[in-house]
Amino acid sequence: MPNRRFADGEVVMGRWPGSVLYYEVQVTSYDDVSHLYTVKYKDGTELALKESDIRSQSSFKHRKSQSSSSSPSRRSSSRSRSRSPGRPAKGRRRSSSQSREHKDDKKKTIQETNLALPPCVLKPSENNTRRYNGEPDSTERNDTSCLILEQKLKPDLEVERVLEQYSLRPRKEEKKKEEIYSEKKVFETIKTIEKASSKTKELEFGGRIGAFTLIFFLPATVFYLLLMCKQDDPSLMNFPPPLPALESLWEPRVFGVVLLWFFLQALFYLLPIGKVVEGLPLSNGRKLQYRINGFYAFVLTAAAIGTLLYFQFELHYLYDHFMQFAVSAAAFSVGLSIFLYIRSLKAPEEELAPGGNSGYFVYDFFTGHELNPRIGSFDLKYFCELRPGLIGWVVINLAMLLAEMKIHNQSMPSLSMVLVNSFQLLYVVDALWNEEAVLTTMDITHDGFGFMLVFGDLVWVPFVYSLQAFYLVGHPTAVSWPVAAAITILNCIGYYIFRRANSQKNSFRRNPSDPKLAYLKFIPTATGKGLLVTGWWGFVRHPNYLGDIIMALAWSLPCGFNHILPYFYVIYFICLLVHREARDEHHCKQKYGLAWERYCQRVPYRIFPYIY
Ligand code: NDP
Repeated sequence: MPNRRFADGEVVMGRWPGSVLYYEVQVTSYDDVSHLYTVKYKDGTELALKESDIRSQSSFKHRKSQSSSSSPSRRSSSRSRSRSPGRPAKGRRRSSSQSREHKDDKKKTIQETNLALPPCVLKPSENNTRRYNGEPDSTERNDTSCLILEQKLKPDLEVERVLEQYSLRPRKEEKKKEEIYSEKKVFETIKTIEKASSKTKELEFGGRIGAFTLIFFLPATVFYLLLMCKQDDPSLMNFPPPLPALESLWEPRVFGVVLLWFFLQALFYLLPIGKVVEGLPLSNGRKLQYRINGFYAFVLTAAAIGTLLYFQFELHYLYDHFMQFAVSAAAFSVGLSIFLYIRSLKAPEEELAPGGNSGYFVYDFFTGHELNPRIGSFDLKYFCELRPGLIGWVVINLAMLLAEMKIHNQSMPSLSMVLVNSFQLLYVVDALWNEEAVLTTMDITHDGFGFMLVFGDLVWVPFVYSLQAFYLVGHPTAVSWPVAAAITILNCIGYYIFRRANSQKNSFRRNPSDPKLAYLKFIPTATGKGLLVTGWWGFVRHPNYLGDIIMALAWSLPCGFNHILPYFYVIYFICLLVHREARDEHHCKQKYGLAWERYCQRVPYRIFPYIY
């Protein structure tokens, strides 16, 4: 039995990190390795606390009786006094009696807060006349950030800043906003604690059985889709497609090309070109550095492919051996996943992924045990996320375009093939151009690097996302110019929403006081980060997903309506993003508690306005 003082479900008093304030919390779990308790505050926020930061409720009840002699009015006045530590004139030295009085006041305040107030008290409530966008006063009392800030910020700025934080006025009116956010230490400390590593209690993806099933289901789906696409009639009625001979699936030369491709991209990644940026703080407060040179890698790859074509290299070799390439990439991704899992067993606890540390081999292997596996400064997850698979997707598309021209003796590619190639090229170039944005995504900050991401990055993306181009080679589809124009407009609308929404959030997260974002309103949260409630993020809760789905539809439309196969991507993508959205909501609810609920009230639709 672990040596722990507090049991699961016990209601205790938990210290708010970085402050001397205690709030009523419920113990939800205890981690034997890190010796941290996961506790839930009344507003729903969950944090990991050390035992020394937790006290039994009885110790506070005792204090209450001691202070009960003070009248409510006195209590109230002492509270408002001590909540303005900036009150004594700056530079003036206190006499010892004043100092004692101040200490007493402070002590009382802490006791009273401990005793009487939930963790959502806005101070000084007596003076607070501002409204949260017209909502009643009580709704303003949601966050603990004011309490944290009180402990951390310089006295003279404190109250004003706290109030500013709670005001949802357009931020150009906020005079001291920059100072609020320049208190980076405050936010980092909080974030650090919020993400303290512990055992994964809530299993996603259907738990162990779900993870086990997906390990086989995902590769099977890829092979099914590719086999179907090769059929003259890829109708679902023709299920199951005839299985190819096993030996026809493996070709050492193809495997060699896959390895060469992977290591060529690794070489480009290692080139000392492009800026180096810091990622978000990890659970230990450290920030990893990442080189932003994905776009350069793309340009170098384009030059390499151009050179090969110049020397008459037949790129449609990729089309001819497509299934073998998929098998080789899958074999490579299984090998890499095993390597990652083995090395993760030696990783320090704090470097494990919050979602992939369940202790169950299958689950951790699938979701990824280690958060940021690195060999020296080579970050395997970050590298795989946007390079070999994403750039590979564009190269495969180009190979399909050339294969179409060759097979159908065309001097020009078909309009539908051009549309698919250009839309998807835009998507990939955009991702590489905005590579830095990937550092704030769930994949980098939350998910470990295991089979799910390895297979997704190296097999699923290049071989499933190129399905439309692969389909068009075997199933030519004519598209008229007006239809092509309409599809292009649809893609542009999707891209516009996707890009603007992602850029808006990314800029806000990187620099919330950016003057260009001053027109946006946000809800403050206990972690110090704000939740945008106007702009794209006030339209629906995941505007970037909406744009992405619109684009996915535009990629399928050039394939016509004869078969559902080229629409696999958009159907799968809607399922993926709906599930991803649910996962993200769950994490945000844990992170932001009541503030997230308020955001959901303000912005009721998740992805599709007035529908979902
Ligand atoms: P998002 O970029 O949607 O980020 C979600 C996070 O944003 C939340 O966890 C929260 O994190 C923050 N957030 C949520 N609401 C707000 C708000 N109102 N104001 C400010 N911040 C908010 O996550 P994804 O990683 O899922 O997606 C990134 C992009 O990648 C999307 O465009 C998506 O479509 C695309 N994508 C594409 C895939 C593909 O296969 N083509 C697969 C998956 C994603 P915090 O508060 O901690 O910052």
